[in-house]
Amino acid sequence: MTSPVWHPFTQHGLNEPIPRVARAEGAVLHLADGGTLIDCISSWWVTTHGHCHPRIAAAIAQQAGRLDQLIFAGYTHEPAEAVARGLVDLAPAAPDRPPLAHVFFSDSGSTAVEVALKMALGYWYNRSLDGGPPPRSRIVVLEHSYHGDTIGTMAIGERGVYNAAWQPLLFDVGTIPFPAQGREHDCLTALEAACAMREPPAAFIVEPLVLGAGGMLIYPAWVLREMAAICARHDVLFIVDEVMTGWGRTGTLFACEQAGVVPDIMAVAKGITGGAIPLAATLATPAIFEAHRSTDRARLFYHSSSYTANPIACAAAAANLAIWQEEDVLGRIAALADGMARGLSQLSDHKAFANPRQLGAIGAIDLSASDAGYLSDLAPALRAFFLERGLLLRPLGNTIYLMPPYCLAPGQLDRIFVALAEAGDRFGISD
Ligand SMILES: *Cc1c(COP(=O)(O)O)cnc(C)c1O
Repeated sequence: MTSPVWHPFTQHGLNEPIPRVARAEGAVLHLADGGTLIDCISSWWVTTHGHCHPRIAAAIAQQAGRLDQLIFAGYTHEPAEAVARGLVDLAPAAPDRPPLAHVFFSDSGSTAVEVALKMALGYWYNRSLDGGPPPRSRIVVLEHSYHGDTIGTMAIGERGVYNAAWQPLLFDVGTIPFPAQGREHDCLTALEAACAMREPPAAFIVEPLVLGAGGMLIYPAWVLREMAAICARHDVLFIVDEVMTGWGRTGTLFACEQAGVVPDIMAVAKGITGGAIPLAATLATPAIFEAHRSTDRARLFYHSSSYTANPIACAAAAANLAIWQEEDVLGRIAALADGMARGLSQLSDHKAFANPRQLGAIGAIDLSASDAGYLSDLAPALRAFFLERGLLLRPLGNTIYLMPPYCLAPGQLDRIFVALAEAGDRFGISD
Protein backbone atom coordinates (compact mmCIF):
# COMPACT_ATOMS: atom_id res chain seq x y z
CA MET A 1 0.00 0.00 0.00
CA THR A 2 1.43 3.40 -0.86
CA SER A 3 1.69 6.01 1.89
CA PRO A 4 0.33 9.57 1.58
CA VAL A 5 3.35 10.85 3.55
CA TRP A 6 5.67 13.24 1.67
CA HIS A 7 9.07 12.95 3.36
CA PRO A 8 11.67 15.73 3.70
CA PHE A 9 14.89 15.54 1.67
CA THR A 10 13.58 12.32 0.10
CA GLN A 11 13.31 11.62 -3.63
CA HIS A 12 10.20 9.48 -3.74
CA GLY A 13 10.87 8.64 -7.39
CA LEU A 14 13.86 6.49 -6.41
CA ASN A 15 11.73 4.14 -4.31
CA GLU A 16 14.36 3.78 -1.64
CA PRO A 17 13.21 1.77 1.36
CA ILE A 18 11.67 3.87 4.15
CA PRO A 19 12.18 1.87 7.35
CA ARG A 20 9.38 2.06 9.87
CA VAL A 21 10.60 2.59 13.44
CA ALA A 22 8.39 1.42 16.28
CA ARG A 23 10.37 2.46 19.37
CA ALA A 24 13.81 3.55 20.51
CA GLU A 25 16.03 3.28 23.54
CA GLY A 26 19.49 4.75 24.08
CA ALA A 27 21.33 4.65 20.77
CA VAL A 28 19.13 1.93 19.24
CA LEU A 29 16.06 2.18 17.01
CA HIS A 30 13.73 -0.84 16.98
CA LEU A 31 12.09 -1.38 13.62
CA ALA A 32 8.48 -2.42 13.14
CA ASP A 33 9.71 -5.57 11.34
CA GLY A 34 11.76 -6.62 14.36
CA GLY A 35 15.19 -5.41 13.22
CA THR A 36 17.34 -2.82 14.98
CA LEU A 37 19.51 0.09 13.88
CA ILE A 38 22.24 2.00 15.70
CA ASP A 39 21.39 5.69 15.40
CA CYS A 40 24.84 6.95 14.37
CA ILE A 41 23.66 10.50 13.64
CA SER A 42 21.36 11.14 16.62
CA SER A 43 18.28 11.20 14.36
CA TRP A 44 19.64 14.21 12.48
CA TRP A 45 21.74 15.77 15.21
CA VAL A 46 19.10 16.15 17.89
CA THR A 47 19.27 13.23 20.36
CA THR A 48 22.00 13.94 22.92
CA HIS A 49 21.83 11.62 25.97
CA GLY A 50 19.98 8.84 24.14
CA HIS A 51 16.46 8.12 22.91
CA CYS A 52 13.60 8.06 25.43
CA HIS A 53 15.79 9.19 28.32
CA PRO A 54 13.76 8.29 31.44
CA ARG A 55 14.10 11.70 33.14
CA ILE A 56 13.05 13.61 30.04
CA ALA A 57 10.22 11.18 29.21
CA ALA A 58 8.91 11.47 32.79
CA ALA A 59 9.04 15.27 32.70
CA ILE A 60 7.04 15.28 29.45
CA ALA A 61 4.42 12.88 30.86
CA GLN A 62 3.99 14.90 34.06
CA GLN A 63 3.74 18.24 32.30
CA ALA A 64 1.26 16.85 29.75
CA GLY A 65 -1.17 16.22 32.59
CA ARG A 66 -0.67 19.62 34.25
CA LEU A 67 -0.47 22.40 31.64
CA ASP A 68 -0.21 21.41 27.98
CA GLN A 69 -0.20 24.72 26.12
CA LEU A 70 -0.47 28.41 26.93
CA ILE A 71 -0.56 31.62 24.91
CA PHE A 72 2.89 33.13 25.57
CA ALA A 73 2.08 36.73 24.62
CA GLY A 74 1.46 38.30 28.00
CA TYR A 75 1.35 34.99 29.95
CA THR A 76 4.06 32.82 31.46
CA HIS A 77 4.59 29.45 33.19
CA GLU A 78 7.19 27.89 35.44
CA PRO A 79 8.82 25.50 32.91
CA ALA A 80 9.59 28.43 30.57
CA GLU A 81 10.90 30.55 33.44
CA ALA A 82 13.10 27.67 34.65
CA VAL A 83 14.53 27.02 31.17
CA ALA A 84 15.20 30.73 30.57
CA ARG A 85 17.02 31.06 33.91
CA GLY A 86 19.00 27.88 33.17
CA LEU A 87 19.97 29.07 29.68
CA VAL A 88 21.16 32.43 30.99
CA ASP A 89 23.24 30.64 33.67
CA LEU A 90 24.81 28.21 31.20
CA ALA A 91 25.33 30.58 28.26
CA PRO A 92 28.85 31.65 27.27
CA ALA A 93 29.96 34.61 29.41
CA ALA A 94 33.04 36.79 29.89
CA PRO A 95 33.80 39.64 32.30
CA ASP A 96 34.39 42.13 29.49
CA ARG A 97 31.28 41.25 27.48
CA PRO A 98 27.57 42.00 28.04
CA PRO A 99 25.73 38.85 29.15
CA LEU A 100 23.24 36.83 27.10
CA ALA A 101 20.55 37.85 29.58
CA HIS A 102 17.32 37.59 27.55
CA VAL A 103 15.70 34.46 26.10
CA PHE A 104 13.16 34.38 23.25
CA PHE A 105 11.54 30.99 22.62
CA SER A 106 10.53 29.42 19.30
CA ASP A 107 10.17 25.89 17.94
CA SER A 108 13.01 24.98 15.56
CA GLY A 109 16.54 25.87 14.60
CA SER A 110 15.27 27.71 11.53
CA THR A 111 12.89 29.87 13.57
CA ALA A 112 15.57 30.53 16.20
CA VAL A 113 17.81 31.85 13.41
CA GLU A 114 14.96 33.84 11.81
CA VAL A 115 14.35 35.41 15.23
CA ALA A 116 18.07 36.23 15.52
CA LEU A 117 17.97 38.05 12.16
CA LYS A 118 14.76 39.89 13.10
CA MET A 119 16.30 40.94 16.44
CA ALA A 120 19.41 42.24 14.70
CA LEU A 121 17.48 44.34 12.19
CA GLY A 122 15.01 45.43 14.89
CA TYR A 123 17.93 46.62 16.99
CA TRP A 124 19.27 48.89 14.25
CA TYR A 125 15.79 50.04 13.20
CA ASN A 126 14.69 50.99 16.71
CA ARG A 127 18.00 52.69 17.43
CA SER A 128 17.54 54.81 14.32
CA LEU A 129 14.17 55.97 15.74
CA ASP A 130 16.11 57.20 18.79
CA GLY A 131 18.40 59.30 16.60
CA GLY A 132 21.01 56.56 16.21
CA PRO A 133 22.74 55.67 12.92
CA PRO A 134 20.58 54.88 9.85
CA PRO A 135 19.03 51.39 10.02
CA ARG A 136 21.15 48.53 8.74
CA SER A 137 19.85 45.45 6.95
CA ARG A 138 22.74 43.66 5.30
CA ILE A 139 23.78 40.25 6.71
CA VAL A 140 27.28 38.83 6.26
CA VAL A 141 27.63 35.05 6.17
CA LEU A 142 30.31 32.39 5.85
CA GLU A 143 30.66 30.34 2.66
CA HIS A 144 29.21 26.75 2.92
CA SER A 145 26.96 27.72 5.85
CA TYR A 146 23.62 26.13 6.68
CA HIS A 147 21.10 27.87 8.92
CA GLY A 148 17.79 26.21 8.01
CA ASP A 149 15.23 25.73 5.25
CA THR A 150 12.82 28.65 5.66
CA ILE A 151 13.08 31.46 3.10
CA GLY A 152 15.12 33.72 5.38
CA THR A 153 17.52 31.03 6.53
CA MET A 154 17.97 29.75 2.97
CA ALA A 155 18.94 33.30 2.00
CA ILE A 156 21.82 33.32 4.48
CA GLY A 157 22.93 29.76 3.69
CA GLU A 158 24.96 28.21 0.89
CA ARG A 159 23.15 28.47 -2.45
CA GLY A 160 22.85 25.35 -4.58
CA VAL A 161 20.58 22.71 -6.05
CA TYR A 162 18.71 22.45 -2.73
CA ASN A 163 17.41 26.02 -2.95
CA ALA A 164 17.62 26.86 -6.68
CA ALA A 165 13.81 26.96 -7.12
CA TRP A 166 13.48 29.71 -4.53
CA GLN A 167 16.49 31.78 -5.57
CA PRO A 168 14.24 34.69 -6.72
CA LEU A 169 12.93 35.06 -3.16
CA LEU A 170 16.31 34.99 -1.41
CA PHE A 171 17.76 38.34 -0.32
CA ASP A 172 21.34 39.38 -1.02
CA VAL A 173 24.00 38.74 1.59
CA GLY A 174 27.72 39.37 1.85
CA THR A 175 29.66 36.08 1.76
CA ILE A 176 33.17 35.62 3.10
CA PRO A 177 35.34 32.59 2.29
CA PHE A 178 35.49 29.59 4.62
CA PRO A 179 38.67 29.67 6.78
CA ALA A 180 40.18 26.51 5.27
CA GLN A 181 43.56 25.47 6.61
CA GLY A 182 46.19 27.94 5.39
CA ARG A 183 43.47 30.35 4.16
CA GLU A 184 42.30 31.63 7.54
CA HIS A 185 43.58 35.14 6.89
CA ASP A 186 41.66 35.42 3.59
CA CYS A 187 38.51 34.80 5.56
CA LEU A 188 39.34 37.33 8.27
CA THR A 189 40.46 39.97 5.78
CA ALA A 190 37.19 39.57 3.88
CA LEU A 191 35.20 39.91 7.09
CA GLU A 192 37.13 43.04 8.02
CA ALA A 193 36.41 44.52 4.57
CA ALA A 194 32.71 43.60 4.75
CA CYS A 195 32.40 45.27 8.17
CA ALA A 196 34.28 48.39 7.07
CA MET A 197 31.98 49.12 4.11
CA ARG A 198 30.48 52.58 3.99
CA GLU A 199 27.08 51.10 4.63
CA PRO A 200 28.04 48.65 7.36
CA PRO A 201 26.23 45.33 7.78
CA ALA A 202 23.69 44.76 10.55
CA ALA A 203 25.22 41.46 11.59
CA PHE A 204 27.57 38.61 10.83
CA ILE A 205 26.21 35.10 11.45
CA VAL A 206 28.33 32.01 11.81
CA GLU A 207 28.22 28.33 12.80
CA PRO A 208 30.92 28.22 15.51
CA LEU A 209 33.88 25.83 14.87
CA VAL A 210 31.99 23.30 12.71
CA LEU A 211 29.90 23.85 9.57
CA GLY A 212 27.49 20.92 9.76
CA ALA A 213 25.41 20.50 6.60
CA GLY A 214 28.22 22.16 4.63
CA GLY A 215 30.24 18.94 5.08
CA MET A 216 31.40 18.83 8.73
CA LEU A 217 34.03 21.46 7.98
CA ILE A 218 36.06 22.35 11.07
CA TYR A 219 38.01 25.56 11.66
CA PRO A 220 40.12 26.65 14.63
CA ALA A 221 38.94 28.49 17.73
CA TRP A 222 41.34 31.40 17.18
CA VAL A 223 39.57 32.21 13.91
CA LEU A 224 36.21 32.36 15.70
CA ARG A 225 37.80 34.62 18.33
CA GLU A 226 39.15 36.93 15.60
CA MET A 227 35.73 37.03 13.88
CA ALA A 228 34.15 38.17 17.16
CA ALA A 229 36.86 40.79 17.65
CA ILE A 230 36.42 42.18 14.13
CA CYS A 231 32.65 42.48 14.61
CA ALA A 232 33.11 44.18 17.99
CA ARG A 233 35.60 46.65 16.51
CA HIS A 234 33.18 47.65 13.76
CA ASP A 235 30.03 47.59 15.90
CA VAL A 236 28.54 44.80 13.78
CA LEU A 237 26.31 42.35 15.69
CA PHE A 238 27.91 38.92 16.07
CA ILE A 239 25.37 36.08 15.83
CA VAL A 240 26.31 32.47 16.50
CA ASP A 241 24.15 29.60 15.32
CA GLU A 242 24.75 26.89 17.97
CA VAL A 243 21.79 24.85 16.73
CA MET A 244 24.02 21.88 15.83
CA THR A 245 27.15 22.62 17.85
CA GLY A 246 25.33 23.24 21.15
CA TRP A 247 24.59 20.74 23.93
CA GLY A 248 28.01 19.14 24.01
CA ARG A 249 28.53 18.04 20.42
CA THR A 250 31.92 19.74 20.11
CA GLY A 251 33.17 18.59 23.53
CA THR A 252 32.02 21.66 25.47
CA LEU A 253 28.42 22.64 26.24
CA PHE A 254 28.60 25.36 23.57
CA ALA A 255 31.28 25.62 20.88
CA CYS A 256 31.78 29.33 21.63
CA GLU A 257 33.34 28.44 24.97
CA GLN A 258 36.40 26.96 23.22
CA ALA A 259 37.11 30.35 21.67
CA GLY A 260 36.15 32.32 24.76
CA VAL A 261 33.69 34.38 22.73
CA VAL A 262 30.33 35.75 23.83
CA PRO A 263 28.10 36.67 20.89
CA ASP A 264 25.46 39.39 20.82
CA ILE A 265 22.85 36.84 19.78
CA MET A 266 22.91 33.04 20.06
CA ALA A 267 20.47 30.53 18.52
CA VAL A 268 19.98 27.10 20.12
CA ALA A 269 17.57 24.27 19.28
CA LYS A 270 18.08 20.56 18.45
CA GLY A 271 19.53 19.19 21.73
CA ILE A 272 17.84 21.74 24.01
CA THR A 273 15.24 19.11 25.03
CA GLY A 274 17.78 16.29 24.82
CA GLY A 275 16.27 15.82 21.37
CA ALA A 276 12.90 14.58 22.57
CA ILE A 277 10.50 17.30 21.43
CA PRO A 278 10.80 20.52 19.39
CA LEU A 279 11.92 23.71 21.14
CA ALA A 280 14.35 26.50 20.34
CA ALA A 281 15.63 29.67 21.92
CA THR A 282 17.37 32.84 20.81
CA LEU A 283 19.46 34.55 23.49
CA ALA A 284 20.34 38.25 23.31
CA THR A 285 22.28 40.89 25.20
CA PRO A 286 20.59 43.68 27.18
CA ALA A 287 21.35 46.23 24.41
CA ILE A 288 19.26 44.25 21.91
CA PHE A 289 16.41 43.73 24.39
CA GLU A 290 16.47 47.39 25.47
CA ALA A 291 16.26 48.59 21.86
CA HIS A 292 12.82 46.95 21.75
CA ARG A 293 11.69 47.91 25.26
CA SER A 294 9.70 51.13 25.35
CA THR A 295 6.30 52.49 26.30
CA ASP A 296 5.66 52.62 22.53
CA ARG A 297 3.77 49.51 21.38
CA ALA A 298 5.02 50.04 17.80
CA ARG A 299 8.49 49.01 18.97
CA LEU A 300 7.70 45.64 20.53
CA PHE A 301 9.28 42.54 19.00
CA TYR A 302 6.77 41.37 16.40
CA HIS A 303 7.39 37.64 16.32
CA SER A 304 5.41 34.71 17.64
CA SER A 305 4.26 31.24 16.72
CA SER A 306 1.35 29.32 18.19
CA TYR A 307 3.52 26.99 20.24
CA THR A 308 6.08 29.52 21.52
CA ALA A 309 7.54 28.12 24.78
CA ASN A 310 5.10 25.20 24.81
CA PRO A 311 5.03 24.00 28.44
CA ILE A 312 5.57 20.31 27.59
CA ALA A 313 8.61 21.16 25.47
CA CYS A 314 9.91 23.48 28.19
CA ALA A 315 9.49 20.73 30.81
CA ALA A 316 11.62 18.45 28.61
CA ALA A 317 14.24 21.21 28.30
CA ALA A 318 14.22 21.78 32.07
CA ALA A 319 14.86 18.04 32.58
CA ASN A 320 17.70 18.24 30.05
CA LEU A 321 19.25 21.18 31.90
CA ALA A 322 19.01 19.22 35.17
CA ILE A 323 20.84 16.30 33.54
CA TRP A 324 23.59 18.69 32.43
CA GLN A 325 23.83 20.19 35.91
CA GLU A 326 23.79 16.92 37.86
CA GLU A 327 25.50 14.34 35.66
CA ASP A 328 28.97 14.12 34.14
CA VAL A 329 27.78 14.58 30.56
CA LEU A 330 31.09 16.09 29.44
CA GLY A 331 32.89 13.03 30.84
CA ARG A 332 30.70 10.74 28.71
CA ILE A 333 31.37 12.90 25.66
CA ALA A 334 35.13 12.82 26.31
CA ALA A 335 35.10 9.00 26.50
CA LEU A 336 33.07 8.77 23.28
CA ALA A 337 35.43 11.26 21.61
CA ASP A 338 38.46 9.11 22.60
CA GLY A 339 36.91 6.03 21.05
CA MET A 340 36.02 7.97 17.93
CA ALA A 341 39.56 9.34 17.62
CA ARG A 342 41.00 5.79 17.76
CA GLY A 343 38.54 4.55 15.13
CA LEU A 344 39.16 7.48 12.79
CA SER A 345 42.92 7.12 13.12
CA GLN A 346 42.73 3.44 12.11
CA LEU A 347 40.36 4.22 9.28
CA SER A 348 42.68 6.89 7.92
CA ASP A 349 45.22 4.13 7.14
CA HIS A 350 42.66 2.73 4.72
CA LYS A 351 43.55 3.85 1.19
CA ALA A 352 39.94 4.74 0.36
CA PHE A 353 39.67 7.38 3.08
CA ALA A 354 41.08 10.87 3.44
CA ASN A 355 40.79 13.96 5.57
CA PRO A 356 39.74 12.49 8.93
CA ARG A 357 38.52 15.23 11.25
CA GLN A 358 36.93 15.43 14.63
CA LEU A 359 35.75 17.87 17.23
CA GLY A 360 34.33 16.37 20.40
CA ALA A 361 31.60 13.87 19.53
CA ILE A 362 31.52 14.84 15.85
CA GLY A 363 33.75 12.77 13.57
CA ALA A 364 34.00 12.84 9.77
CA ILE A 365 36.07 11.35 6.98
CA ASP A 366 35.93 11.60 3.19
CA LEU A 367 35.57 8.54 1.00
CA SER A 368 37.57 8.81 -2.23
CA ALA A 369 35.09 7.93 -4.92
CA SER A 370 34.82 8.88 -8.59
CA ASP A 371 31.51 10.77 -8.41
CA ALA A 372 31.27 12.48 -5.06
CA GLY A 373 28.84 15.41 -5.40
CA TYR A 374 25.70 15.83 -3.32
CA LEU A 375 23.56 14.41 -6.14
CA SER A 376 25.88 11.50 -6.94
CA ASP A 377 24.56 7.96 -6.63
CA LEU A 378 27.13 7.34 -3.92
CA ALA A 379 25.12 8.74 -0.99
CA PRO A 380 22.01 6.57 -1.49
CA ALA A 381 24.21 3.53 -2.18
CA LEU A 382 26.07 4.14 1.07
CA ARG A 383 22.81 4.65 2.98
CA ALA A 384 21.54 1.28 1.74
CA PHE A 385 24.89 -0.39 2.50
CA PHE A 386 24.84 0.84 6.11
CA LEU A 387 21.14 0.04 6.51
CA GLU A 388 21.89 -3.60 5.62
CA ARG A 389 24.46 -3.56 8.43
CA GLY A 390 22.04 -2.20 11.02
CA LEU A 391 23.32 1.38 10.99
CA LEU A 392 21.47 4.64 10.46
CA LEU A 393 24.08 6.74 8.65
CA ARG A 394 23.41 9.49 6.12
CA PRO A 395 26.60 10.65 4.37
CA LEU A 396 26.86 14.19 3.00
CA GLY A 397 28.01 13.42 -0.56
CA ASN A 398 31.26 11.48 -0.03
CA THR A 399 31.68 12.71 3.55
CA ILE A 400 30.76 10.06 6.08
CA TYR A 401 30.23 11.47 9.54
CA LEU A 402 29.29 10.20 12.98
CA MET A 403 27.34 12.23 15.51
CA PRO A 404 25.93 9.59 17.86
CA PRO A 405 24.09 10.01 21.16
CA TYR A 406 26.52 10.23 24.08
CA CYS A 407 25.31 6.89 25.51
CA LEU A 408 26.78 4.97 22.56
CA ALA A 409 28.64 1.92 23.95
CA PRO A 410 32.23 1.08 22.90
CA GLY A 411 31.02 -2.16 21.28
CA GLN A 412 28.53 -0.20 19.17
CA LEU A 413 31.27 2.21 18.11
CA ASP A 414 33.45 -0.75 17.07
CA ARG A 415 30.60 -2.11 14.94
CA ILE A 416 30.28 1.25 13.20
CA PHE A 417 33.99 1.44 12.35
CA VAL A 418 34.01 -2.17 11.03
CA ALA A 419 31.19 -1.17 8.66
CA LEU A 420 33.00 2.03 7.63
CA ALA A 421 36.10 0.03 6.67
CA GLU A 422 33.89 -2.35 4.67
CA ALA A 423 32.33 0.63 2.91
CA GLY A 424 35.86 1.77 1.99
CA ASP A 425 36.63 -1.69 0.52
CA ARG A 426 33.39 -1.74 -1.44
CA PHE A 427 33.03 1.85 -2.72
CA GLY A 428 36.45 3.47 -2.48
CA ILE A 429 38.91 4.19 -5.24
CA SER A 430 42.23 3.29 -3.72
CA ASP A 431 44.73 4.52 -6.26
C1 LIG B 1 19.72 21.94 11.76
C2 LIG B 1 20.26 23.31 11.74
C3 LIG B 1 19.40 24.43 11.64
C4 LIG B 1 17.93 24.30 11.41
O1 LIG B 1 17.29 23.68 12.49
P1 LIG B 1 15.83 23.04 12.29
O2 LIG B 1 15.41 22.67 13.67
O3 LIG B 1 16.03 21.87 11.39
O4 LIG B 1 14.97 24.09 11.68
C5 LIG B 1 19.97 25.68 11.72
N1 LIG B 1 21.29 25.84 11.87
C6 LIG B 1 22.13 24.80 11.96
C7 LIG B 1 23.59 25.05 12.15
C8 LIG B 1 21.65 23.49 11.88
O5 LIG B 1 22.50 22.46 11.92
